[in-house]
Amino acid sequence: MSSLKAGSSQDSYRHPRERMVRDLEERYGIASPSVLAAMRKVPRHLFVQQHLGAQAYSDFALPIGEEQTISQPFVVARMSEYLELDRDHSVLEIGTGSGYQTAVLAELARVIYSIERVPSLAQDAIKRVQALGHSNVKIQIFDGTVGWSQVAPFDRILVTAGAPGAPPRLLEQLKVGGRLVIPEGDQDRQRLVIYDKVSKRRIERQEGEAVAFVPLIGRAGWQPRS
Ligand code: SAM
Repeated sequence: MSSLKAGSSQDSYRHPRERMVRDLEERYGIASPSVLAAMRKVPRHLFVQQHLGAQAYSDFALPIGEEQTISQPFVVARMSEYLELDRDHSVLEIGTGSGYQTAVLAELARVIYSIERVPSLAQDAIKRVQALGHSNVKIQIFDGTVGWSQVAPFDRILVTAGAPGAPPRLLEQLKVGGRLVIPEGDQDRQRLVIYDKVSKRRIERQEGEAVAFVPLIGRAGWQPRS
């Protein structure tokens, strides 16, 4: 794995990454300057298998092994934008995958707790975020549908796998004033959903774009397909 940082003179992917960011802004209407800056900085080609490096800045999901995918850049940008992150925020992410979205979040918030259920993916993601110097990221391996009670509550929670609904433990672990973003639907197609915890007892729900994520597998998710 290369430890080459984005922005260095040897970064041969600087131009494709700039093009990706321009597309996010002009074609998809991503407007948050901080999200665009984070996506300009994080080297997506280091989060895909080496032979897929040339496709890393195209706007689609790519395989990362274990039947999982790194999400499409537009979806990463839109979910990051929906989170309305602040430098002081503590964020829980469910579904580390390659660690790309984790690295984008690490540019935007104080601390990122990320959970992945597949050990080999988590181990590779840990190496990548360490190589890029993200010291504000903690990754652990377990079923994220139960949340991470030891470090709760969170200002923001992001689920990056398709769920039948918002896991109750995640809503419990969200601070009042906090926001959870999750793809909800069936195992093949979902819609981004934003939950705002406006008081201890009141949660508001709004829907965003149609998306297609791999399933969230776990106690408050789907059962693994046999
Ligand atoms: N955001 C990731 C990236 O940038 O590479 C892509 C995430 S991928 C679409 C979804 C991930 O969620 C997979 O790596 C999958 O193993 C993981 N996952 C599914 N169910 C999970 C669960 N209950 N807890 C933790 N991770 C889970």
